Amino acid sequence: MTEVFNGSFTQQEPIPEEAIEAAVAVMRTGRLHRYNTAPGEAGEAALLERDFAAMMGVPYALAVASGGHAMSTALRAVGVGPGDPVLSNAFTLAPVPGAIAAIGAVPVHVEVCEDLTIDLDDLAAKADRARVLLLSHMRGHICDMDRLMAICDAAGVTVIEDCAHTMGATWRGQLSGTHGLVGCFSTQSYKHLNSGEGGLLITRDAELMARAVVLSGSYMLYERHLAAPGPEAFEAAKYEMPNISGRMDNLRAAILRPQLGRLAAQCAAWTARYRVVEDGLRGTPGLHVIERPEQEGFVGSSFQFLAPDWPAERITALLARCAARGVELKWFGAPEPTGFTSRYDSWRYAPVQRLPQTDRVLAGLLDMRLPLTFSLDDCATLARIIRAEAGALWQAGG
Ligand SMILES: *Cc1c(COP(=O)(O)O)cnc(C)c1O
Repeated sequence: MTEVFNGSFTQQEPIPEEAIEAAVAVMRTGRLHRYNTAPGEAGEAALLERDFAAMMGVPYALAVASGGHAMSTALRAVGVGPGDPVLSNAFTLAPVPGAIAAIGAVPVHVEVCEDLTIDLDDLAAKADRARVLLLSHMRGHICDMDRLMAICDAAGVTVIEDCAHTMGATWRGQLSGTHGLVGCFSTQSYKHLNSGEGGLLITRDAELMARAVVLSGSYMLYERHLAAPGPEAFEAAKYEMPNISGRMDNLRAAILRPQLGRLAAQCAAWTARYRVVEDGLRGTPGLHVIERPEQEGFVGSSFQFLAPDWPAERITALLARCAARGVELKWFGAPEPTGFTSRYDSWRYAPVQRLPQTDRVLAGLLDMRLPLTFSLDDCATLARIIRAEAGALWQAGG
């Protein structure tokens, strides 16, 4: 009998009871706006910033409305303005070039390597074209951060990290998001913490955090933050930065705070699932599993593999055959954007560049979500189905 998978690729775990109780408690007070606090009360948003900063080992954190808002705020806070070029990954998701475009700046795409990290040779070649790099750790693949920082430091390029897929991950033991000047995170439902929508931004730079806080829509209430610098750091920012409302509310913060304590265990659970799929797919004729460097403490919240140089028809056949057995694969090589898989050449608000290496990698790139509602057995089933269908197509040579 042919094995079929019945799980849902978009079903997350429920919100923990403790978080539900915290959210209900906020609703009972009616004080949902982060600056609507009773005398002596800190508010959940401020407490979340304090807890997240402590977890990340940095002095400053800011909670905002989305990961995209965190990135555009970071770009504006480091001084990027309209018309300025910003280096970024050609292989990432639409909120990344979107955050650059949101402030009128212009993405300059950098090629992707076969291991799905940013091509550091291409980055070095383009480093004189911009003052800022918005580095996306796309799908949790972390590049050689030592070499990346050396390239950027030598060229005077400021690094902002998009850690939407690397919250809780490390490079040589150092938390992702603490290598560059700013780290940006998302707490949207498909990321590592779930508040529906939400974002976080961290830095060690006091003046920069002051600018980000005012940008996020703090009015002159910044002294109520618990992970922001003192009032002296705001002397310039409070006059120079526009108030671009993108605050997080106390309700979302209440849902998130209890999740912080579980993050490490959740990350380990994801990576255990990833390893099962990896083991099951390794050695499949015609497929290439991405080897993860030992310096990378990755979080396996999604799985990617390559079908290098497969003709497009064979890849669409694989997608259809897997889908018929309940396995949802996404393909980054499709000519038209569908679902969340748009490509750099779909983002036509940016100047279109020719990126032959990225084209070749994306043409064979397949992607699969691994929600924690999947068991380890489920993951073994997924791998068996993909292996069988890919094997049949490979043998047929179709
Ligand atoms: C989800 C995501 C973001 C941020 O997304 P928001 O929906 O704005 O929170 C940023 N970068 C990548 C690569 C993402 O997948």
